[in-house]
Amino acid sequence: MPNLAVIGHPVAHSRSPAMQTAALSGLGLAGEWSYGALDVAPADFEAILAELAAAGEYAGVNVTVPHKEAALAMADEATEAARAIGAANTLSFRDGLIVAANTDAGGLLRSLPESLAVSRDMGNGEPDGMRRALVLGAGGAARAAIWALATGEEPDGPQWIPPFAVDVWNRTAERAEGVAAELAAEPVADPTAADYALIVNTTAVGLAGEDPFEHLPLGAESFRPGQVVVDMVYGEEPSPLLAAAAAAGATTVDGLEMLVQQGALSLQIWTGEEPSIEAMRSAVRL
Ligand code: NAP
Repeated sequence: MPNLAVIGHPVAHSRSPAMQTAALSGLGLAGEWSYGALDVAPADFEAILAELAAAGEYAGVNVTVPHKEAALAMADEATEAARAIGAANTLSFRDGLIVAANTDAGGLLRSLPESLAVSRDMGNGEPDGMRRALVLGAGGAARAAIWALATGEEPDGPQWIPPFAVDVWNRTAERAEGVAAELAAEPVADPTAADYALIVNTTAVGLAGEDPFEHLPLGAESFRPGQVVVDMVYGEEPSPLLAAAAAAGATTVDGLEMLVQQGALSLQIWTGEEPSIEAMRSAVRL
């Protein structure tokens, strides 16, 4: 029976086991596959991962905080996205080899609303040039977001998300400068929110109930209709950031939607099947 799991530290709060178990049930694979959680301290990560990859009982794992960089470092093979981002959240074990991918990038693109997609026959759909995106943060989640937005979707359907011109703001400005130089973005010290078609919060602000408008370069009045605002941080309620954006008429995407989309991409890598997004959404929003 192929096992799957999320590895993190801590990991007890993770919604991935419930979400992926619902997805496996929806695919009719619940009897064959299982998905659990493994709490692994950083000091033990390398040894445990090597054991899992060699033992043959696991088909793969999701990797979350704080192991995503270490996961890539241990991989025998990695996708272009994982290498460019410098972190992996999805590992597959094939013949004893560790194959790394980063589905946070694709998960973010798949969670964006149709309003940001354009028709393939319109070129990039932007006669006035590329649309602008603002990424808040310069950690691992920011790197995935910047790479995804600066790269855009593969234009293989009638609608696609073309690349954005990406600006990066971070509390520690030097980190924004470093990440921007590496990933084809521009650092910005004092962004004007209304300039952006898309704003993505990848900082941890909000996790501990902080007021985002005290910690981020945005005011509650910053947003405008037609704009899309994503907050990767998730909790039970809409975050104060998304509540303000919605009140201003912006379209909002919360961290649970992104969790679902990155999880669906991971499951597709392991099983080769496209899981039910609805089943996964219901499981994470219980
Ligand atoms: P990380 O590498 O530790 O980066 C944390 C970022 O938050 C840094 O840019 C840091 O700025 C910033 N930050 C922390 N406290 C701040 C404050 N008080 N004011 C302003 N900025 C602050 O973490 P990560 O892996 O990128 O993850 C970030 C968040 O995204 C986490 O909450 C994680 O759960 C979430 N996430 C969600 C999904 C999803 O599927 N929904 C996927 C990935 C990550 P400095 O550089 O100045 O310290």
